[in-house]
Amino acid sequence: MQTSRICPRCGRSESEVEFIGPFCRDCYIQVYGVATLPRQVDFVYCQYCGRYKYQGGWNEPTGTIEETLIDYLTFYLTRKLRPTEHLDEAWISEIRLDKEFVGPAIYNAFVKINGRRGDVEVIEEKIVTVKVNAAVCPVCTRRITKRGYNAILQIRSSEGKLSENLRERVNVFLSENLSGRLAESIIGFEEHKEGFDILIEDPSIARMIAAKLKSNFMAKTIETFKLVGRNPDGTRKGRLTISVRIPEISPGEIIMIDGKPYLFLAVSRGNNLLLVDLETGREEHMSIDVLWQKGFQPYPGGVDLKRYMLISRDKNTTMFLDAESGYRNVIEVPTSTVKVYVDRFIEGREYKVFLASNMIYVVEEIIEEGK
Ligand SMILES: [Zn+2]
Ligand SMILES: [Zn+2]
Repeated sequence: MQTSRICPRCGRSESEVEFIGPFCRDCYIQVYGVATLPRQVDFVYCQYCGRYKYQGGWNEPTGTIEETLIDYLTFYLTRKLRPTEHLDEAWISEIRLDKEFVGPAIYNAFVKINGRRGDVEVIEEKIVTVKVNAAVCPVCTRRITKRGYNAILQIRSSEGKLSENLRERVNVFLSENLSGRLAESIIGFEEHKEGFDILIEDPSIARMIAAKLKSNFMAKTIETFKLVGRNPDGTRKGRLTISVRIPEISPGEIIMIDGKPYLFLAVSRGNNLLLVDLETGREEHMSIDVLWQKGFQPYPGGVDLKRYMLISRDKNTTMFLDAESGYRNVIEVPTSTVKVYVDRFIEGREYKVFLASNMIYVVEEIIEEGK
């Protein structure tokens, strides 16, 4: 007959209760526990962005600060956890704080640990002290002090001053198209009379952002490099400045290129401008670089830009009224000499028209406020 083991602590036998090592399962937990854990954990987070410190670095938060803390505790304690002598394995199944998270303070974390020996499972709850402190991470420090930037992007317009409209489009573009390292490298913004500067930590990232602005806004970029002192190791320290000039023109506008009026129709594939030469009526494509080389400016207005109301139009004849003459002058021209660049060309509506030597270009519908 096989002798049944007896628990030396409570006296129960193997037929009454499962055993782990020398003890019954209940006494095993009392004597050995399920696993050992550190008694205390420090957690330092950035009060501005929620990054947390780990192994000398700062890590991205995984949610709110409280969620990040719980994730961190789970990860950290799992690494430190050691199953007790007679168990095959142990793992953390739940962590919760003893009180509502309110920022820097000392908390108790209740840590539920499961363990297993063969098919006998045991559970234990341990309390770990969590010291939570707030600090400012290096990224936020640089942003607050605006130090540590090695490149500047100067966002300017082709005209004197960056318009509100263009500034808004640039801001939207930056917030929608920059993430991760590109967004992190931005240390701050500085307002200027003519536009604004973006201060960037990493010059190669500044170049990447400049390239994105160049292709999206038909911008012209010019790099300059200036020495600003020496690094602690004696090497020369430079700062890259990239001037990003954005043309203040949009499709539908008349622009002067090389002294000649063009209607700017669209930005076509390959980042070329689709233009209509208003003197010859020919459509042409022009690369951004050529546009900048030739130079351009908004059309200053003049006698050749009129405001006409469409009266009638058939395949032979088109009739307008000149709005600027008080609708007294009737203009009657062959329909073949009227080129329409608006979506809707409707009788009774008024249009901006450009009068070339033998053509009339309808370039824009005039929409009155409230109509
Ligand atoms: Zn026992
Ligand atoms: Zn931070």
